[in-house]
Amino acid sequence: MKPNACFRNIDGSDTYPLDQVVYRSEVDGNLLEVVHDYDALRALHSPDEWKKLFAERKGSVHSPWDSGIWGKKELVLPEIDEKNIVSLGEGWTQLFDAAPLAKELGLKELRVKLCGNSHSGSFKDLGMTVLVSQVNQMIADGKPIRAVACASTGDTSAALAIYCAKAGIPSIVFLPAGKISTAQLVQPISNGSIVVQLDTDFDGCMKIVQQVTADKSIYLANSMNSLRVEGQKTIAPEICQQLDWEVPDVVVIPGGNLGNVSALAKGFDDCLELGLIDRKPRIMVAQAENANPFARAWRNGFATFEPVQAKKTLASAIQIGNPVSYPKAKKAILRYDGAVVDVTEQELADAAHEADRVGLYCCPHTGVALAGMRKLREQGVIREGERVVVISTAHGLKFSEFKTGYHDSRLEGVEPKFANAVFRSKPELGAVMDVLNREMDARTRR
Ligand SMILES: *Cc1c(COP(=O)(O)O)cnc(C)c1O
Repeated sequence: MKPNACFRNIDGSDTYPLDQVVYRSEVDGNLLEVVHDYDALRALHSPDEWKKLFAERKGSVHSPWDSGIWGKKELVLPEIDEKNIVSLGEGWTQLFDAAPLAKELGLKELRVKLCGNSHSGSFKDLGMTVLVSQVNQMIADGKPIRAVACASTGDTSAALAIYCAKAGIPSIVFLPAGKISTAQLVQPISNGSIVVQLDTDFDGCMKIVQQVTADKSIYLANSMNSLRVEGQKTIAPEICQQLDWEVPDVVVIPGGNLGNVSALAKGFDDCLELGLIDRKPRIMVAQAENANPFARAWRNGFATFEPVQAKKTLASAIQIGNPVSYPKAKKAILRYDGAVVDVTEQELADAAHEADRVGLYCCPHTGVALAGMRKLREQGVIREGERVVVISTAHGLKFSEFKTGYHDSRLEGVEPKFANAVFRSKPELGAVMDVLNREMDARTRR
């Protein structure tokens, strides 16, 4: 019995092979998920053998085994031919120890998983390597795929463009005009994508890409395509491996389209099924108040779900009013005894820049997660002495307008608590020393 996987309706009924061009159930339109044969995986290795194998591959210098994703290939795409894997060494990101913040908040430990320290600068690489590899396999098998397409708030498009460029596969990206950062826009342009800006928001772009990909020769790369989840889910075993297979008490993750929280839960499911860990963490989602349909649903006990018109938020990658993966995310929160919280623009901006002071360089979405974590701690949902991991989703360098705007007090509705002024001085030692002496006195070593 060899490990194998297929797409299955999330209600557990109809299944499809992974090389079929299908994104939703053909029976009832439900989302699909990739399911693995856990019996076959358990038969292959004992828990200790899995851990040893993963440790060995972490030290490998051979692609794709040096990748955090493909080092766990059996749990991701067990049947793909190694030579069709398109890897850029993704994964194995730093689990940053934010000890001063942990101390301030009364936590035993606060780690920040830097998923954005990646090839295109966001965690979207983790899923895209899997999706583009599967497409590469399908093309090698003679399937008539002309291009891969996505709608994006900026990071999915950057990841799709760069992996497709590596593989030599044409890519198409739809972006909401004027709603993404300059760095995000220039990425797919540079990597040679067909870039189309639409005068609408992300939800509007999503509608168009679904219409475009009704033509099955254009493959859909949005997280509605559950192949992406298979890459992103490796965040969970990677965190456990980095904690020497101990389980954090709480993981906090920012949520927009809600694919990543579903992925995180699925990754912990894998660990539990294979006996790599013996208890669950609690999983909590943070949203921006300006785009908070999930937080609203949580507050009414998930009784109903109402899409919202997402308002402008600094956390532009999660400015989403109608999250595609809501049903999966709801299950994830219920299974992992979780909670959902939302934060203001002021809170997310301050949280990002407070964290920068201890050595991080946070994007606004990481700011959402950090501010949400703080709020949950203050509410007592996260308890004193707990061990917490916050998921950082993108690199701060992609959001320079956010960072400079904060320090220059130019962000609408934000009064920056952690702004750091830049001094201007005559190029004379005396004048320079006046500034330095004053400022050194004002700052003490932590
Ligand atoms: C995509 C994205 C998110 C949200 O992930 P979802 O799976 O859509 O919930 C958060 N932060 C950044 C930087 C992103 O690019």
